[in-house]
Amino acid sequence: MDTRSRFATHVVENQPPPLLPCDLYATDAPLREALAREGGAWAEAEIAAYGKLAGGSLGECSQLANANRPQLHTHDRYGHRIDEVEFHPAYHELMRTAIAHGVPNFGWRHADRPGAQVARAALTYLHYQADPGSSCPLTMTAACVPALRHAPDLAASWLPRILATHYDGRHVPAWDKPGNTIGMGMTEKQGGSDVRANTTRAIAVGDGLYELIGHKFFFSAPMSDAFLVTAQTDAGPTCFLMPRFAPDGSRNGMRLQRLKDKLGDWSNASSEVEFTGALAWRVGEEGRGIATILEMVGMTRLDCLLGSAALIRHALVQALHHCKYRRAFGKRLVEQPLMRVVLADLALESEAATALALRVARAVDASARDAHEAAFARVATAIGKFWVCNRAVGVAAEAQECLGGPGYIEDSGMPKWYRQAPVNAIWEGSGNVQCLDVLRALRREPESAHALRAELALARGAHPALDAAVDALDAPLAAADGDGLQARARWLVERMALCLQAGLLFRAGYSTLAAAFCVARLQGHAGLAYGTLPVDAPVATLLARAWPQ
Ligand SMILES: Cc1cc2nc3c(=O)[nH]c(=O)nc-3n(C[C@H](O)[C@H](O)[C@H](O)COP(=O)(O)OP(=O)(O)OC[C@H]3O[C@@H](n4cnc5c(N)ncnc54)[C@H](O)[C@@H]3O)c2cc1C
Repeated sequence: MDTRSRFATHVVENQPPPLLPCDLYATDAPLREALAREGGAWAEAEIAAYGKLAGGSLGECSQLANANRPQLHTHDRYGHRIDEVEFHPAYHELMRTAIAHGVPNFGWRHADRPGAQVARAALTYLHYQADPGSSCPLTMTAACVPALRHAPDLAASWLPRILATHYDGRHVPAWDKPGNTIGMGMTEKQGGSDVRANTTRAIAVGDGLYELIGHKFFFSAPMSDAFLVTAQTDAGPTCFLMPRFAPDGSRNGMRLQRLKDKLGDWSNASSEVEFTGALAWRVGEEGRGIATILEMVGMTRLDCLLGSAALIRHALVQALHHCKYRRAFGKRLVEQPLMRVVLADLALESEAATALALRVARAVDASARDAHEAAFARVATAIGKFWVCNRAVGVAAEAQECLGGPGYIEDSGMPKWYRQAPVNAIWEGSGNVQCLDVLRALRREPESAHALRAELALARGAHPALDAAVDALDAPLAAADGDGLQARARWLVERMALCLQAGLLFRAGYSTLAAAFCVARLQGHAGLAYGTLPVDAPVATLLARAWPQ
């Protein structure tokens, strides 16, 4: 026996092949069908091309960008302040590729075509599966547009660069670059949800400029070219566009104090910052800053919903792939009855999450043309963000468990999704804030309540459990008296989300899946854990649709 065979202890077997590279669009029937249903199919060529990239080279970039986290350099070797964050080249590649393929800009570049924001939503959904961290600056760049339009002169000079398909990560003024990215600063130490508690002051200094003095406790993507920020004027909270370089080309008064040591979201930098007289232009009227910046937040909330639907999908695919190859007790895991029902339950959750996310994207897309859709978007974005972002956390944990021990090990990729999962529920308004926002919309905007009821009525008669659940919403909605309902808001919004999801699944023609969803999620015939679907659940159908590989 030669030395090599004497020391060969074992053959590696019973392990799955790598999942990636794979085509994330071609393999995702629920996404393809939702795209067509919601009016974005005309952009399929661009989206299909991005599906290949997201499941290929961009996944490799994400690994590098997460393993080599951004580093803050506050000073140069001589002691000058520089306030620069250094990213791994793979991060820049992620940004460059996403921007070149329209992830942040497609919806606006094709705004004259109905469905453009649905197409952007699909691109965003795919990019999130490649790298969730860089989705943050991409989203903020996409979302700033409606708010920035409150300052037409600024919009005229900045939007061509914001909507360009060029990424330029150099540390030079925005106006010296072919393309710009945008960040957002609202949260301060004394108040995040309660943004009216902002203490940062803005003092007019002439020429339409203001000096900002104060701080922001969370300030993501601090290497963006400019930021929409809120600060107090005598008239109250006001929105500003604050460039990273002052108009004279010098470094603006923006001191990065430190980078947050985050649970996840590692490829993205999030900082604490002090404004030491940073120059900024006003966007919208003094005192109307919250309303102005909320137009940006409406879109970032949609992207939280899309991101969490994408995360649910990707976690499911990872679990399914593993279970199709791994054998235990004489069978592949995907053949074991109990594992099948766990995977099918995750697939059902994913179907519902994707359907709702793309439906809300269509409502946002149509908002400018259709008042009814705008009213629906107002309430459905908050409903969807609360519910799907909340569900993503449990799905990430359950999918990780499907891989057994390797799911807990970094190189499986699953810990990245597990760490990422909670953040969409927290930022852009945490769960309770979304639920309170739903109540506020229903109370103050009768057209939103009407749009929600009209949407729910579209599936009337499809299933007795759905009819009963929708009827049960009537009394609390009619009594939407604000404070009295607050303690019940999570329950109400959860039921609204489930009814919307069930209705969408029926209307999409998935009657078997939709009926299973009603029985499990609305009628209470499933337990609280995943994998507790009733015995007659359409497990085979769900699994075959979810991952045809
Ligand atoms: C990684 C990361 C990056 C971020 N990046 C940015 C950024 O770039 N720009 C930015 O502006 N912000 C950013 N944020 C901040 C984020 O938006 C806030 O943390 C979030 O909005 C919550 O605000 P808060 O942390 O002050 O919590 P609080 O407002 O103190 O809320 C704490 C909890 O109380 C709940 N709550 C609040 N009010 C009520 C109420 N009336 N009734 C019941 N419950 C309530 C909330 O839902 C939450 O669960 C980031 C956060 C994270 C984690």
